[in-house]
Amino acid sequence: MGATARISNGICLDMNPAGCEGLVLEQIKAAGDMDRQGKEPRSVLVLGASGGYGLSARIFSAFGKGAQTMGVSLERAPCEKRGGSPGWYNNIAFETVAKQANLKAVTLQGDAFSEATKLQVVEAAREHQFEPFDLVVYSLASPVRTDPETGVTHRTTIKPIGQPTSTLTINLANGQLKNVSLNPATEAEIADTIKVMGGEDWKLWMNKLHEEGLLATGVKTVAFSYIGPPVSNDIYRSGTLGRAKEHLEATAHELASLLETIGGSAYVAVCKAVVTRASAVIPAMPLYIAALFRVMKDMDLHEDCLQQIKRLFRERLYTDGKVPVDNEGRIRIDDWELRTDVQEKVAEIYSKVNNENVWSLVDFEGYQNDFLALHGLKG
Ligand code: NAD
Repeated sequence: MGATARISNGICLDMNPAGCEGLVLEQIKAAGDMDRQGKEPRSVLVLGASGGYGLSARIFSAFGKGAQTMGVSLERAPCEKRGGSPGWYNNIAFETVAKQANLKAVTLQGDAFSEATKLQVVEAAREHQFEPFDLVVYSLASPVRTDPETGVTHRTTIKPIGQPTSTLTINLANGQLKNVSLNPATEAEIADTIKVMGGEDWKLWMNKLHEEGLLATGVKTVAFSYIGPPVSNDIYRSGTLGRAKEHLEATAHELASLLETIGGSAYVAVCKAVVTRASAVIPAMPLYIAALFRVMKDMDLHEDCLQQIKRLFRERLYTDGKVPVDNEGRIRIDDWELRTDVQEKVAEIYSKVNNENVWSLVDFEGYQNDFLALHGLKG
């Protein structure tokens, strides 16, 4: 399985456009099979629409709900020397099927952090006569952001804060365990990571859309966060990425005040760990996700991006009552992942895992299948 795929440091260097299209079609079919309960959302903007949670949110909005969708992403177009990035082909597949289904769909390629892309969205919404957006999904995962005000480029760093850490992970190329040691981040690295993955750009987007009158009365906006278990704590929640997520979560409160004037609301949804191109490059995550998959599949609790999004829409964002949140105002769809019984089993796997038993203790095959599938290399 995947013997010919070239994988280096969590990045797959090969891809197959037809396979990417197939994966999008599978999700579209699954979303269409989920019933069209409720009328919302009707008009959806997804920032980071070509992969992972953003792609599933777009697919579920369109094919599960019948909404018009605008998607923004930054993907590599094919050129003479090499093919495009997987998200490039995902976007084409989505648009093709949406058009066949008479669903309005506009896909824009550009740097979502730039002012130019924000203007492009405003113009496209007018040109294509979008209804004001009643849902804005913020699902960017990026290693880099150029601040549109200062022109300074900031980079994400994945490091612990305060003290060095070492963590066990799995080499995706050969399924062998390896230890990764990381030094603590500097103050500048922490600040840079917050600049890229915190809430500053989300706020710029919502202000812009609000100023331009492109937000519907009662609009909802949601961005995605992660908390995770003790085994990833040093590297994630207590590390640089966790600081950025705290900033994102605080931004939701600021945006809630802005949107109050039009009856709108802003949320951060804490999602479950899944296999995406972004999560594959975070040390500790591949082994943790493979262990989690084993446990959650065995307990019949496993969810992929689309199933998480379905639960987010149906049981959190669009219910008859108030949106259920935790005591910090966050939507929790990582509730099953963080169940005590699930985490106890994950911890048990960690206490026993070694290079001899890793393939039988964790669902490495499931992880690798999902990872290769993201690049159209399934089966
Ligand atoms: P992903 O890599 O699958 O998708 C990232 C998207 O962002 C892609 O559409 C990409 O084109 C787009 N993008 C990146 N830089 C861009 C730019 N400058 N301009 C426009 N588009 C750009 O990532 P994902 O894992 O789905 O992550 C989405 C969000 O979900 C992130 O905030 C992440 O932290 C969060 N999240 C992920 C997980 C997980 O396990 N994958 C869990 C919880 C929360």
